[in-house]
Amino acid sequence: MSGDHFEVIVVGSGAGGGVVAGELAERGRRVLLLEAGGHYTAADFTRWESRAGHDFWWPLRFAFPAGDPGLGPVALIGGRCVGGSTVINTKVALRASQRELDKWHAASGVGLTRADLDPYYERVERYLGVRERTDDWDLKPCVQVAKRGFDALGAKLEPTRAYTDHNCMQCGSCLQGCPTNAGKSTLNTYIHRHWLGPHLTLRPNSLVQRVLVEGGEATGVEYLDTTTGEVRRAQGDAVVLACGSLSTPQLLMRSGLKNPNIGRHLGLHPAQFVFGLFDEPQDAHMVAPISAHCFDFAADEAGGFAVEAVTVQDPIGFTVSLCDEHGPMWGEPLVEAARNYRRWIGLLNMSNDDNNASVSLDEDGNEVFTCDFQPVELDRIGAAREFSTRVLTAAGASQVLWSGLATTHMQGSCRMGADPATSAVDTHCQTHEVKRLYVGDSSLHARTLSVNPSLTIMALATRLAEHLDAGAGGQLDASRREQLVA
Ligand SMILES: Cc1cc2nc3c(=O)[nH]c(=O)nc-3n(C[C@H](O)[C@H](O)[C@H](O)COP(=O)(O)OP(=O)(O)OC[C@H]3O[C@@H](n4cnc5c(N)ncnc54)[C@H](O)[C@@H]3O)c2cc1C
Ligand code: SF4
Repeated sequence: MSGDHFEVIVVGSGAGGGVVAGELAERGRRVLLLEAGGHYTAADFTRWESRAGHDFWWPLRFAFPAGDPGLGPVALIGGRCVGGSTVINTKVALRASQRELDKWHAASGVGLTRADLDPYYERVERYLGVRERTDDWDLKPCVQVAKRGFDALGAKLEPTRAYTDHNCMQCGSCLQGCPTNAGKSTLNTYIHRHWLGPHLTLRPNSLVQRVLVEGGEATGVEYLDTTTGEVRRAQGDAVVLACGSLSTPQLLMRSGLKNPNIGRHLGLHPAQFVFGLFDEPQDAHMVAPISAHCFDFAADEAGGFAVEAVTVQDPIGFTVSLCDEHGPMWGEPLVEAARNYRRWIGLLNMSNDDNNASVSLDEDGNEVFTCDFQPVELDRIGAAREFSTRVLTAAGASQVLWSGLATTHMQGSCRMGADPATSAVDTHCQTHEVKRLYVGDSSLHARTLSVNPSLTIMALATRLAEHLDAGAGGQLDASRREQLVA
């Protein structure tokens, strides 16, 4: 084993970890960023769908709904590369409303308000160049076709806000990585800005296996270099885990932490495509995958779901996920649907859930994911599908199909809060059990957001970096801060 020492070790380089690492490096802190996946750049993002799934995505994981409500397994989708899921996401950038933060407060006593978070949101938005996306609307007829359906039902289809710049050529390849760097990931912003500089050390292909703890304090991590097979150690004054909501709780458990909230209250924000077949080619795979959305029903009392438009997966993802009233499709009907690939328009429904999923380890140490949707959650998923079916039919679709359930918005498995009885980490994201050990990713969300979560993850990560740098908790020594590099 070999080892070295840093002020902060950040594990995982996605929305949370990439921001914590970049922000601390920008403040002159010596940071080690460890990432399980490889380091790729725009030159690697060639829209080779199956290769992207292998190289940039975490191998698919599933949660099986309890009681078999007839929904099939929920596919859990995330990134595994430098930049994490931000490399393969669709860049929608929305702030959480005060209503959502009130839910956090009710769940675990987090007292954050929009006024507290707004400065962090603003900083992230500046960093990523968040803008309203209206450029698809005139150029791409399929967006107007979908809008016809929303208009017919009196529902509002609005442009969304996103972290894509004007180099976006609307190629639709976001889920396989952005070939133009128009899509802003933590890879091509927070991380690349600093990785050749003196403050950020980036080690891809480094799978962290446990946090080293001495006398109730984190002192470093042990990780596997997956290219050489060597087990290595690194020491740090503080350790931030940002492996995403499925992996961060596992790492805490593997490191001996026992708080029962670790791995509980996982929210899935279950998503389902609904597809409409039109007479003319729509080429919904050649748009910025999400340029519009409808939030008319996003509040629980209004229905509890949001709809994104217009989108369709690349051909493999589209074909393997198709369902009709008999379940997953097969044989000639599936072949016929795939043959008409260019004529389908997809709407993506996202339903609010009540955080009834979980992450745990079985007796052999293998990961286990469960979910237990309650009737109200199933009603929201059903209402969303029915609404999107009506939109597409009103827009002129001659056939409607849908996908199985999936999620790309897992959140909340190490919720932050004031009380160790109801939360896994405190309101500054430090674990209740081990000092100098922090969580800095989507696991923190006390309740699933009805909006896309990445901007909030990044805002909280910015807040965490500021807290660590200030040294208010005694983690980092102010006199050791090096000259600012930004
Ligand atoms: C296809 C897709 C589309 C999406 N679209 C949007 C969108 O439009 N807008 C939006 O707001 N959100 C979107 N999201 C969600 C958003 O990207 C995620 O919520 C967010 O990136 C999660 O941040 P995170 O830091 O928790 O985890 P990630 O960004 O997933 O980062 C976790 C990183 O940790 C690494 N890691 C895990 N375990 C270890 C370990 N043991 N050692 C070292 N490294 C480890 C992983 O490889 C990964 O790179 C989308 C996600 C996907 C997958
Ligand atoms: S649609 Fe735009 S942001 Fe998405 S991959 Fe293509 S160029 Fe990049």
